Amino acid sequence: MTYPATWYAAETPKAPGYPALTGMVEADVCIIGGGLAGLTAARELLRAGKGVVLLEAERIAWGASGRNGGFVSPGFALGVEGIIAKVGLAATQQLYALSKAGHDYVWSAIVELAPAALMGSGWLVALRQPGRDELIRHQALMAEHFATDAEVFAPEHTRKMLKSERYFESMLSPDAFHIQPLTYALALARDVARLGGNIHEGSRALSWQRSGGKAILRTNKGQVRAQHAVFCTSGYGGQLFAPLARSVLPVATYIAVTQPLGEKVCAAIATGAAVSDTRRAGDYYRVLPGGRILWGGRISTRRTEPARLAERMRDDMLSVYPQLGTPRMEYAWSGLMGYARHKMPVIEQPGEGLWMATAFGGHGLNTTAMAGQLIAAAIAGGDDRWKLFAPFGSPWVGGPFGQAGVQMSYWAMQAKDRLDERGMVRRRSYRW
Ligand SMILES: Cc1cc2nc3c(=O)[nH]c(=O)nc-3n(C[C@H](O)[C@H](O)[C@H](O)COP(=O)(O)OP(=O)(O)OC[C@H]3O[C@@H](n4cnc5c(N)ncnc54)[C@H](O)[C@@H]3O)c2cc1C
Repeated sequence: MTYPATWYAAETPKAPGYPALTGMVEADVCIIGGGLAGLTAARELLRAGKGVVLLEAERIAWGASGRNGGFVSPGFALGVEGIIAKVGLAATQQLYALSKAGHDYVWSAIVELAPAALMGSGWLVALRQPGRDELIRHQALMAEHFATDAEVFAPEHTRKMLKSERYFESMLSPDAFHIQPLTYALALARDVARLGGNIHEGSRALSWQRSGGKAILRTNKGQVRAQHAVFCTSGYGGQLFAPLARSVLPVATYIAVTQPLGEKVCAAIATGAAVSDTRRAGDYYRVLPGGRILWGGRISTRRTEPARLAERMRDDMLSVYPQLGTPRMEYAWSGLMGYARHKMPVIEQPGEGLWMATAFGGHGLNTTAMAGQLIAAAIAGGDDRWKLFAPFGSPWVGGPFGQAGVQMSYWAMQAKDRLDERGMVRRRSYRW
């Protein structure tokens, strides 16, 4: 069992593994999936006095949690405008506050457990076509109703930080920060173990059932009997737990990392903030130590890595920053995000003692922390704030038809993005 060949894995000291499950064990709670959702739920349950066994099919944070962009900010994959349209302003404010608590959780856990995982602060969202009025409207909405203090920059200022004619206005969220996600997840796992949790890597849950008031999870060499089972398998869960499989669509996205560019990187990116654009399927990137650029983007429903991934990502990067020449891409990888149809998390109790916390989409660093806290508070203290997500539900994502639909809508989004940039269609909403 090894980690995928990411820059994160290369930079992370080899962690001692956790043993595979053998034999029969009992616990208050069995968590399935050792990503950030499962780890945070485990940590918070242990802190509330519950006994926890965590089953991870591969290694801790082997999935999206150990290979993502590392941007941490409040909010959800569905923007606040979309949430307001569905549940109204007051409920959106409550949801946003939960997402902010998730953001704050990551900050304090990092300060406490893994300060070295903190890599920088600020998130700059840049427009690829002029859009001052819309940006100002969004900034005002966020300031008035969600107490944010984002700053809007004119194109000239944006281009001092991002030296590309592709960009126009931009907005900086100073409270956001960026991290080394694998280091963070491994630190959480160590804390789970320190608190008395039993972590088992290489322990794929193969089946489950409820019997005698307990959930029974089977792996190839062992069995866990627990009062509660929490499924946190996201895009990697396959068909194990039907309520999750039917409501989560795995969507791939991609990252590549350049060779170290040293000071030369400033000819392109002169900000320590993480950067993204507002296209429907935009780029996200940041500068890493040594002047490497981590460049993320694209989405797809395919499970296999596309051919020439590193070159394609480099082409995307050079279409924004041709002045970078032809840097070598030293790493390129894919990862699966779990999306519900409504782009909001799915936090539910589909049966007695059965829970799922999933579908964080591309906004999972804060929302996994939020969900872990909510699930732990629900199991340990009967707290029912997780029900704030009930209006979104867990609609069927459409199986293979859903996959084909997402792929087609991505291609349509790309086409519309190109037309937008040429000013050929009227943009109706941005992805913040
Ligand atoms: C390339 C990429 C870039 C991203 N960038 C960002 C970003 O910058 N900011 C942000 O907020 N979000 C980002 N995201 C999203 C974020 O990483 C995810 O939403 C989040 O990590 C999901 O965490 P999770 O714990 O739900 O799932 P995962 O981290 O995917 O964990 C699921 C785990 O379950 C395990 N598992 C599956 N089946 C079984 C089984 N049967 N038994 C036991 N274990 C099992 C898997 O091995 C896996 O380790 C990105 C995602 C990707 C892929």
